[in-house]
Amino acid sequence: MIRTVLFAVLYLLPSWCLAQEADLVLTNGTIWTVDHANPTAEAVAVKDGKFIYVGSNRGVQKHIRKGATEVIDLESLFVTPGFNDNHVHFEWTGRLVFGLNLLEVHEEKPLVKKVREVNDRFAPGVWITGGQWSVFIQRFDGNVFFANGKALELAGIGRDIPNPAGISVERDRKGTPTGILTGANVRNHFQKIIPDRSWNQRLLETQAVLDRCKMFGVTSLSDMSDPLQREIFYHLRNSDALTVRVHSRGYLDQWDKLAALRIKVGAGDEMIRLGAVKAWIDGIMGNSSARFYEPYSHISGERGRWRSIMFPWTAANDGRDMVSNLENLAMKADSAGIQLSVHAIGDEGNGYLLDMVERMIERNGQKDRRFRLVHAQVIHPDHFKRFNGLGIVAEVQPYHCTDDMRWMEERIGHDRCLGAYAFRTLWDNGAVVCFGSDSPGTNAARYPLNPMLGLYAAVTRQTSKRRFKPTHSTPPTPLLRRRSKAPSRWGNLRTCQCYRTTY
Ligand SMILES: [Zn+2]
Repeated sequence: MIRTVLFAVLYLLPSWCLAQEADLVLTNGTIWTVDHANPTAEAVAVKDGKFIYVGSNRGVQKHIRKGATEVIDLESLFVTPGFNDNHVHFEWTGRLVFGLNLLEVHEEKPLVKKVREVNDRFAPGVWITGGQWSVFIQRFDGNVFFANGKALELAGIGRDIPNPAGISVERDRKGTPTGILTGANVRNHFQKIIPDRSWNQRLLETQAVLDRCKMFGVTSLSDMSDPLQREIFYHLRNSDALTVRVHSRGYLDQWDKLAALRIKVGAGDEMIRLGAVKAWIDGIMGNSSARFYEPYSHISGERGRWRSIMFPWTAANDGRDMVSNLENLAMKADSAGIQLSVHAIGDEGNGYLLDMVERMIERNGQKDRRFRLVHAQVIHPDHFKRFNGLGIVAEVQPYHCTDDMRWMEERIGHDRCLGAYAFRTLWDNGAVVCFGSDSPGTNAARYPLNPMLGLYAAVTRQTSKRRFKPTHSTPPTPLLRRRSKAPSRWGNLRTCQCYRTTY
């Protein structure tokens, strides 16, 4: 009898009584779910940082408890899952965001203003490099340097002192240094006297980038920084202050250290993922060092360069003459279950890695290795169809396209440009294409962290002023997916924890 009554009571309870109460509810939005079957929703409910409901305004009501649930009316605003950035140089972005950025400064007054702003931010005694107490600034090409009186004094440069070897010191009529320095030894000379940035400085820089990520909706990223950055991430995570999920990569030539610690793909925790290594096979377009099968159009006989990790080449035992050091290392790391990511810009750099992945499959077997072809910038026209079945992740950064287009055709000609930044063709041929920023960029160009600018570049292949002609523009909706779902799945990261209950 008792049992029957209890059953009846439970049965009669309204469904809202059984629903989990949410901490946060968003209603009245256009919420993009990255789910083909149900692409948009009106409302979501979140508890302990996890979605407990995605659906309609009506359906979400059961998760609201007055006084306990914060409810935000989105008034039709568009909502996407957090963005993943597939490639960030976090440390350098921090230096630029928190430190001195003179890329848009062309005159004396704004320069002084910028340096003053940084001086106010920095603790006393911290060098302003890239550019106060001691100031040492370099022009973006790294050929002309500018130092203030304190920096000159510390460097042993003064009125009646002869120039240090390899440094030309510009002087006024009385022989007093003006602060302008040139010469091959300037950087080296100052590197010896500029102390490493302190832990506290690095923390402040990190916080500045985390704040930016929050502002732009970046909730996870793959970081290319030094090992100390990883320690900073762990420090922040331990105090619950890490606000992005980080995929942190080691170096290919140290794969054995990871293997010795039994770190392989998927290792780490929800906030910091390990298990991948990085390497560089060739140079970049900016200084014509990317490696091509045929010479550059503007320098006769020059095909670009392999990076030092390719050497030495040793005798191969598979019928080929020689095998590169990079390949030897990559084969071992792959068989130890470590994920590989290799920078490749020129068509031969990319082609070599396609060959290598095929040999890897032959030797170590087919598995979910998620080889990341970093940049995948210029692909030989015959090679696109090879992507099918290799399971390669093309880790591309659309902003490169709008930056490099200034001189791409002049350097490699129209035909090769057809295979450049060909995101859509890569995608149509079976590559997993994911997007990112490569922030903060090269000496000559800034790659913004804001994912919307990268998406704009991918869709339009133009900046407000220029357009890259060999066109591969891609429709916007699937592109959003490149920035949210694909990189997270294929980079062993989840962008957001989305536990859907019902629609
Ligand atoms: Zn990079």
